[in-house]
Order: sequence, then structure tokens, then C-alpha cells
Amino acid sequence: MIQQLESASEWDICIIGGGATGLGAAVDSATRGFKTILFEQHDFAKGTSSRSTKLVHGGVRYLQQGNIKLVLEALKERGLLLKNAPHLVHNQKFVVPNYKWWEGPFYGIGLKIYDWMAGKLGLGPSEFLSRERILELAPTLDPDGLRGGIAYHDGQFDDARLAIDIAQTAAQYNATLLNYFPVTGILKSGKKTTGVQVKDQLTGKTYEVKSKTVINATGVFTDAVLNMDNPRHNQMIAPSQGIHLVVDKEFLPGDTAIMIPRTDDGRVLFAVPWHNKIVLGTTDTPIKTKNAASLLEPVPLEEEIDFILKHIGRYLSKDPQRDDIRSMFAGLRPLVKASGKRTAALSRDHLINISDSGLITITGGKWTTYRRMAEDVINIAIEKNKLPAKPCMTKELLLSGHDQPLMPPEIFSLSADQVESAIKRSVDQEMCITVEDFLSRRTRSLLLDARAAIQQSPVVASLMAAEMKKNDHWIREQIDSFKLVANNYLPIQNLN
Ligand SMILES: Cc1cc2nc3c(=O)[nH]c(=O)nc-3n(C[C@H](O)[C@H](O)[C@H](O)COP(=O)(O)OP(=O)(O)OC[C@H]3O[C@@H](n4cnc5c(N)ncnc54)[C@H](O)[C@@H]3O)c2cc1C
Repeated sequence: MIQQLESASEWDICIIGGGATGLGAAVDSATRGFKTILFEQHDFAKGTSSRSTKLVHGGVRYLQQGNIKLVLEALKERGLLLKNAPHLVHNQKFVVPNYKWWEGPFYGIGLKIYDWMAGKLGLGPSEFLSRERILELAPTLDPDGLRGGIAYHDGQFDDARLAIDIAQTAAQYNATLLNYFPVTGILKSGKKTTGVQVKDQLTGKTYEVKSKTVINATGVFTDAVLNMDNPRHNQMIAPSQGIHLVVDKEFLPGDTAIMIPRTDDGRVLFAVPWHNKIVLGTTDTPIKTKNAASLLEPVPLEEEIDFILKHIGRYLSKDPQRDDIRSMFAGLRPLVKASGKRTAALSRDHLINISDSGLITITGGKWTTYRRMAEDVINIAIEKNKLPAKPCMTKELLLSGHDQPLMPPEIFSLSADQVESAIKRSVDQEMCITVEDFLSRRTRSLLLDARAAIQQSPVVASLMAAEMKKNDHWIREQIDSFKLVANNYLPIQNLN
């Protein structure tokens, strides 16, 4: 990839940011035949894109808000993603338990509309279920006052693994993608953007990269990049944090997820089986920080942990406690600023903005709609930069990895040989550079059981060092920096 960077004189499209949005744009651009390069400052999907609720969904919540267009678009994309990444996206059954008389008809009708909107791309009809049937599907639901419920279907996926497979797909179509390559400046000729300045984080070498188009797809870092272009730009983003807690399967045995459409303070709450654990979430907390390190590795707040434990406890027969938390992770939504409004009321739809210099910024949206966002932004790049108009190819593009064995989600249950071969594959084929890349995003060990991941990190560091020809100093430094990050994935009292 570095050789490709060094041998090219000019690119058609240069993308800043290797999350869902940037990687999607790279696939769209490369499959249209454009000479494409993407830079990610840390690892692919290090930001929000590895910290989602893991749902490929139309958004029942947006239906409640009456945002029909958003739901229709997302349901269409849900169907396409299920076809194009069948190895990582699957059909997930949810139940909405009803404890009040009006909840059955109210949510039942809403979910019938959801089915109808999905049309041919539907994942299965919603149905009204008796109290007994609901308890068969979700046996740990609190039976006290339970009247019945509604079952419906949505998609579930592995976000960071999908990001890696999208990066692989872009590379297959000759895109150049580099992780640990922060963009540090925007190149200009007069007032026009003509490329970017980047730094190879591992060697310290800097490059000036010329490109006809530059796309800013940096999530909560959007304003930092806009600042490089124009220090006087208006702030676009108000980050809002959402956290998830991961607990053992005993809290929700079986394959069915629970959706609580409205907590006391009007939020949606999920309990979803994922890789043999249960993911509980999420929250929506406005965040003031502009500090780059805390934007990259946000930390759950005490009150967010309390909120989830308290609210999910109301619906389960056995309440999860702090000691039961195996891992927790926080992600930041890059909400587009609208002064004076609460964050929950701001739009989740995506936004494309063109600066006076020609820099194109895309932000907002959600994982589910990444393909559509990419199509829109490359269409705009064509229009604005007089690139040859070529049609979007991604609606029916099978993503890389669909015909390969799946990477294991965690390494705790693997034999030494299996761990070694997972590391070899990650390092040789997936640009895995650090122990954290391997334990957090190539496998999902850190998100599934943080303490076990910390315990495994010395073995992983040694095996990676052998594969990458690194010395003992590298091993020690990797173990220490992994532990520093991993400590954020456990409540303080669970650390010892
Ligand atoms: C709590 C939570 C739950 C969610 N759950 C769901 C869900 O279940 N389903 C769903 O569809 N959506 C969900 N979403 C939304 C979805 O996760 C996001 O919309 C999506 O991940 C955003 O991707 P992105 O690429 O725009 O941003 P990011 O993933 O943050 O990527 C931006 C990237 O840019 C990089 N970057 C920044 N500055 C630079 C620079 N100078 N040079 C190079 N690189 C740079 C960053 O390191 C980062 O990797 C959720 C979001 C949150 C917060």
C-alpha cells in the first residue's frame, strides 16, 4: 500500500477516515474505476464504527418520530446488506414485552407498518404473542405483570469485522488504504483544495498527496479536519455518547433479543445476544470534550452504567450487577449541530457539505446506510470535480469474506494453533498492526470479556512479534498500551 502511495502522482479521490463512511466511499469510488486512496489515523473502525449496537435496522425509534423517509431508506439498505455480506449479517428476532394494556396494539400496529415498509426486503412478519410464548422466547423476562408481547425481525452484524471486509473489497478493486496514517493538513492551490498532507505514524515519514477530490469522513473529528481547511469554519458536530454493557448469556438465554421502546425518560433500550454474550444499551449523553485522545477512546460515565443496569433490571427476573459486567464500550455519535435542541431530537440522517475550497464533508447517518451514504458522496464528487460520470456498482456487490472461513469472534476458547493462525491471517492479510487491533477489532475479544483479553495479551503480543519480527521492547510496550486501553472496558471495581 505504501509503494502504491509513493508511486502515484495524483489521485481522483482521497478519503480521510477509515470508519464505515470512509471505507464505504472507498469501495464505491474504486468500483466505479476511480483512482482511490484512503487514510485512517489509527486502525480501521477504531472510532464509532466498532462501538455500535451491532444492529442493521430501519430504526423503530425513527418510526416513532414519524421519520418515514429515513426508515424506508434504512430498511432497503438493511435488505441489501443482508444479501451482500451474508457471512456477517443475520436475521435477529426481537420481542417487545407488554406490561401495559395499550402497548400491544400500539407497538403491534407500529411494527406491522415496519414490516409493510420493508416490502420484499422484509426479514419476516411481526406477530402478537401470548405471555407464555414470550416467556418461552425470553425466559428471563420479568413475568410480573407481563401481558404478552410482539415479536419482530431486524438485522444484526459484527461492525468492526464488516469494516475490515469493506476495506478488503476496496483493495480488491485497486483502492489504496492505509491505517496509522493521520491526515495532518490540507494542500491548497490558491483557495482550492488540491490534496492532503499525511504522516506515517510508524516511521514518522510525511507525504504530500495530490488528489482531484478530498472527502472528509471523520465522524466526530469532522470539525478538526474542517479546521485544517479553514480555521474560521462554523462548528458542525455535537458529539453524543452511547455506551453498552456486555454480560453473560445467563441473563438472556436463547436467541431472542429484547427491545424496550420507551424507558422512563423516553429512550430505546436493547438486550441483544451477540457472539454468545448479551449486549445491553444504549445511552445518549452530550459530550463537551474536543480532546483528540478522548474522542478516539471515549470512556463510559458512571451515571451511564447506572442507567443501563437500573433500567434493564426492571425487565429481567435477575438484575445484572456491576460485578457481572464482562466488558463495556462507549461510542460517539457525530450529531449535526442544531442549536438549542436536545441531542435525541437531532437528525440521524446524513449530511454532505461542500466547503468553499471544494473539500467535501460527509457525516451523520448510520452503519446500516453506509452504502447509500457512499453512493451519494461519490455522486457529488463526480458532479463537483468533473470526474467522468460512472454509475454506482455497489447495490449488488458481494463483499469480500463471504466465501472465506469466519474469523473467530474471541480467542479465549481457541487452541494455541488456532490463535496463531488467526494472528497470522490478521497480520498478513488485514493490516493488523497492534495487539489492540487484534483483540478489539480483528477478533472482538476485548468487547466480549475485557479481563480475559488483558490476560491473553502477553501471548498475543509474543505471537504477533514473531510474525512481524519485533523485539522484546515492542512486546512490553504493546502489552502496556493494550492494558491502558482495556482498563476503560471494565468498571473500576471490576479491574482487580
Ligand atoms: C452508541 C452508538 C450505537 C450505534 N448503533 C448503531 C447500530 O446498531 N446500527 C447502525 O446502523 N448504526 C449505529 N450507530 C451509528 C454508526 O455506528 C455510525 O453512524 C457510524 O459508525 C459512523 O461511521 P463514520 O465512518 O462516519 O465515523 P467513525 O467510525 O468515527 O470513523 C471516522 C474515522 O476517521 C478517523 N479520523 C479522524 N481524523 C482523522 C485524520 N485527521 N486523519 C485520518 N483519519 C482520521 C477516525 O480515527 C475514525 O476511525 C451507532 C452509533 C453509536 C454512537
